[in-house]
Amino acid sequence: MSGKNVTEVVSANKQGVSRAARILERGGLVAVPTETVYGLAARADNAEAVARIYEAKGRPDFNPLIVHVTGIDQAQALARMPSAAIDLARREWPGPLTLVLPLRDGARLAPAVTAGLPTVAVRAPRHPVMRALLKRVAFPLAAPSANRSGFISPTRAEHVLESLDGRIDLILDAGETEAGLESTILAWRADGSWDELRPGPVDWAKPAGTPRAARRVEAPGQLASHYAPGKPVRLDADRPEPSEFFIGFAAEHGDCNLSPTGDLKEAAARLYDCLHKGAASDKPCIAVAPIPQSGIGRAINDRLRRAAAPRE
Ligand code: AMP
Ligand code: MG
Repeated sequence: MSGKNVTEVVSANKQGVSRAARILERGGLVAVPTETVYGLAARADNAEAVARIYEAKGRPDFNPLIVHVTGIDQAQALARMPSAAIDLARREWPGPLTLVLPLRDGARLAPAVTAGLPTVAVRAPRHPVMRALLKRVAFPLAAPSANRSGFISPTRAEHVLESLDGRIDLILDAGETEAGLESTILAWRADGSWDELRPGPVDWAKPAGTPRAARRVEAPGQLASHYAPGKPVRLDADRPEPSEFFIGFAAEHGDCNLSPTGDLKEAAARLYDCLHKGAASDKPCIAVAPIPQSGIGRAINDRLRRAAAPRE
């Protein structure tokens, strides 16, 4: 059904959520707002539905997907959760934290969801629309960001439509997303430690003195080029060249300002929208003002570095 070339956009009200649930039950693809970015959801227990996600995004099949659940109970049907994971989930769920955990034997998941890994990434999102949808259906939802693979993540329904029009069945429109950056991903290790695979809205710092994990390509968010606007991006720019669309911060006004008051949370929420505007502008290049590294600034700079990296 997602082979058809009409993508409907509906408001994310009760009827919209019911319609989305019916499409998902039949194995279709629905873009759903979450508190991070718009996700492209399919039922995680069905191989054909999951295959459609990879196809619509043009996503390499070695990149596993995050499975979205209602909470700890549903997560435990899919993953083995050591007590440290349960503690973290109790503290942060529902919310923008993804946990990579050992896959439970007999978990009802299409193998492509985990790309054949012995682990699974689970998250209970807190956006009311995604929560309503998860409660409506009888299966967990596999959902990467609702954009073509490698490009800028969507924080508005219009971004999803620009990227995936004709490739998916439905978009639930609930306006702009709140956090604007993808979830923090932590992987549990058998020695009881956690590795941060991707910084995000949940600020997680390793206890002092513990070495950072070796950089394995374990999460595609770790690939050097990602979130790419399709033109050169120059970081830490004090002022723009005439050929550059300037993304400003605080007093550095720019063509699109991430936060006039220098608020990093606001900057995270606006980052992808400014990158989308930069991508659409007639300027051939993009420059970005320096962004402090503190708090969520670490996640913003992580995404900016990948947006600026040359495409492989
Ligand atoms: P996105 O493409 O924005 O949906 O990002 C999903 C992220 O979750 C990617 O970085 C994936 O690699 C990561 N992920 C999903 N499942 C796993 C897993 N089993 N192990 C490690 N990372 C995972
Ligand atoms: Mg993505």
